[in-house]
Amino acid sequence: MVRVTVWNEFRHERDNDAVADVYPDGIHAVIADALEAAGHEVRTATLDQGPDHGLTEAVLADTDVLTWWGHAAHDEVRDEVVDRVVQHVLDGMGLIALHSAHYSKVFTRLMGTSCSLRWREAAERERLWTVEPGHPIAEGVGEYIELDEAEMYGERFDVPQPDALVFTSWFAGGEVFRSGCCYRRGNGRVFYFRPGHETYPIYDDDDIQRVLQNAVGWAAPTDGPAPEFGNADPIEPIDTSDDRTVH
Ligand code: ZN
Repeated sequence: MVRVTVWNEFRHERDNDAVADVYPDGIHAVIADALEAAGHEVRTATLDQGPDHGLTEAVLADTDVLTWWGHAAHDEVRDEVVDRVVQHVLDGMGLIALHSAHYSKVFTRLMGTSCSLRWREAAERERLWTVEPGHPIAEGVGEYIELDEAEMYGERFDVPQPDALVFTSWFAGGEVFRSGCCYRRGNGRVFYFRPGHETYPIYDDDDIQRVLQNAVGWAAPTDGPAPEFGNADPIEPIDTSDDRTVH
């Protein structure tokens, strides 16, 4: 069981009837239900939930994996909260950045690049190919996932080379995109997952939910020796005789 906090900007669903039709209780509610169904302990948090956006130190200290959906209000996330989230990732908390979270302050800070991409909203077909079938995030997913109506995201996606690339998308309009990217930052694991535009019921899709469930398991902190940094005493005696002198 993983302790998950599902964070959502939760503005489109309240401001836009078309989005509210797709996600009446918010994107976070659908994601939380899917993760709970996999046996995880889930709480949700949203942007307008107080000055910490629901992400107090106490909440993050009790979170193994944070999922992040944001789009229209990235700038409204306070830098103090961004610093806090980034520090928790470096200390070992997992982060799953979803769809338009590519431009979130948290994700761009962790990547160190613009995270820009090309996009088009034309309700076109997307096929996500599982290009790393042995990866735990792809477990139980077929050779590909097909979404009938998706927003297009196309390369170049300005992110660092991922440690592992699990999914690559093809779009009907011709573009391709690295849709499932794994990173390590400090002790934390970061997964970027592309699907999830607010006007399409992407998070209701069984395969997409399976990927989210798997990604939570993958991103959860694992026990290991705590790294030690700084000046180090030798483990074995070091031969300091002057044997490199040329006679
Ligand atoms: Zn979108």
